[in-house]
Amino acid sequence: MIHDTDWVSEKWQNVETRYRVRSMIYDYQSNFQHMQLVDTYQYGKMLLLDGIVQTTERDEFVYHEMMVHVPMLSHHDPKKILIIGGGDGGILREVLRYKSIEKATIVEIDPLVIEFCKEYLPDISKGAFDDDRTDLIIADGAVFVSESREKFDVIIIDSTDPVGPARILFSEKFYLDIQGIMAPESIMVRQTGSTNMQPDEQKEAFELLKGIFRHTAFYVYTVPTYIGGLFSAVFCSDSIDPSEISYDELGRKFNRTSIETLYYNPGIHVGAFHVPGFLKEGLK
Ligand code: SAM
Repeated sequence: MIHDTDWVSEKWQNVETRYRVRSMIYDYQSNFQHMQLVDTYQYGKMLLLDGIVQTTERDEFVYHEMMVHVPMLSHHDPKKILIIGGGDGGILREVLRYKSIEKATIVEIDPLVIEFCKEYLPDISKGAFDDDRTDLIIADGAVFVSESREKFDVIIIDSTDPVGPARILFSEKFYLDIQGIMAPESIMVRQTGSTNMQPDEQKEAFELLKGIFRHTAFYVYTVPTYIGGLFSAVFCSDSIDPSEISYDELGRKFNRTSIETLYYNPGIHVGAFHVPGFLKEGLK
């Protein structure tokens, strides 16, 4: 007999996605957000924050590979990386696969997310928090970027949606502070939500970012457990135009890294920037 308690769900206005669970591992209100860690039949262990799916064992590779390899392979030689949020450790894991990395700074506001994920989702971070190149800082990302005097080659914002502690990470001041700590040749990428459930998020981000950075371009990829599936990110730089990077150049650089991936490849990289017409229309 399957009971109602056997399901966890993500609710959006008129849409609800339900996942059958084997067990609720953790259900906890931290100082910043409601954390649920569940073991689902379909996607393995799953982290939800404030009722929103953040990552699952089964499909985390899509998001983490597309948020890391697109900017890393678009840059000629990235050495200093900044991650804002990212408490599950998936972005950090993928970044540290590049041998050229000297330092990866990760600024996470909620230490409990890291603690829970290291204990219950160890295959996502794969020991990345203990790597010598990792500089873990427990702080509000907005405060960190406003006070930092360092310059970074690639900045990846892996935050929750623009509610609660992450709201400030979608503000103009935050983006201007980010621009202030970007090296002369550098890239910033951030997730901008579901293309069919959060069109306003893409539009807001585009309006703000195209007024700040010389190059601002969206790219898309599909994450099965992110509401609506087709997900978006924005690529921003004052020095690198993603449309000028060829498939062949990406192929050569990717092969040189000998990094094996499950979703990312140079063809998907180039294709991801050829966003569907409805998304372009929505940005007008
Ligand atoms: N990949 C997921 C997504 O796209 O929805 C995000 C995963 S990651 C777990 C999100 C992290 O952002 C959370 O651990 C949360 O604590 C962190 N976060 C939220 N607001 C923050 C802030 N102001 N500064 C630093 N980290 C923040």
